[in-house]
Amino acid sequence: QPESQAVLSARGLRRDFGAFTAVRDVDIDVRHAEVHALIGPNGAGKTTVFNLLTKFLQPTAGSIMLMGQDITRTPPDKVARMGLVRSFQISAVFPHLSVLDNVRVALQRNNHLSYQFWQPLSALNRLNEQAEALLASVGLTRERNALAADLSYGRKRVLEIATTLALDPKVLLLDEPMAGMGQEDIGTIANLIREVAKTRAVLMVEHNLSVVADLCQHVTVLQRGEILAEGDYDTVSRDPRVRTAYMGT
Ligand code: ADP
Repeated sequence: QPESQAVLSARGLRRDFGAFTAVRDVDIDVRHAEVHALIGPNGAGKTTVFNLLTKFLQPTAGSIMLMGQDITRTPPDKVARMGLVRSFQISAVFPHLSVLDNVRVALQRNNHLSYQFWQPLSALNRLNEQAEALLASVGLTRERNALAADLSYGRKRVLEIATTLALDPKVLLLDEPMAGMGQEDIGTIANLIREVAKTRAVLMVEHNLSVVADLCQHVTVLQRGEILAEGDYDTVSRDPRVRTAYMGT
């Protein structure tokens, strides 16, 4: 994909809950090799937009395109197989499996790498190689034999992102990936997201504005269900309406 091309775009996105409109007129373009932040005060509609884009919620109006295909009516499992993958937080990690086995299980969910018992041993060896390579790429090799349950909170999140990467996403959606983390873990996850975004598009909901400033090339600010501002962080953070929205909460 050319760098400037949007791999995920929404036009005129709207979601009503009964008489209440949680999201209206939202246009968003998430581009290849870019980390895009979705920010805004509590209740702005970030989670709703996130769920609309991943198809966990059906839009009341508007359209969504993924890599040139209209996914407005496509169910979430299908868009995941098309390459739009959301991280599921730590609940996706199996606590009683080792770090390595967690990654192996995740890789087997990926059609291209699936190992079945009737396949030759070389397929199993390939799976193991893929698992080791993935662990190395996220810096978890040292903990490969540890039980997932015994990892620190931050390392669990790294493992959880690794299991998401096993699905080979083209677009990765992360809902507050640094929530509840200390400074060191935030740095680790930031580096990981930066690395991941070199070959993918990443959209993240994030509260921590210093993380956004440091990591994100593009920012969309929501307020009361509508886009208040968008652009690069410097432009958006200087916007007086954005300042007012953030000081007002
Ligand atoms: P944010 O993630 O920015 O905090 P949300 O997307 O969670 O905002 O919520 C936006 C608005 O939509 C809020 O006013 C919230 O109460 C409302 N909302 C979200 N989900 C529902 C729902 N399932 N039913 C009714 N209202 C909802």
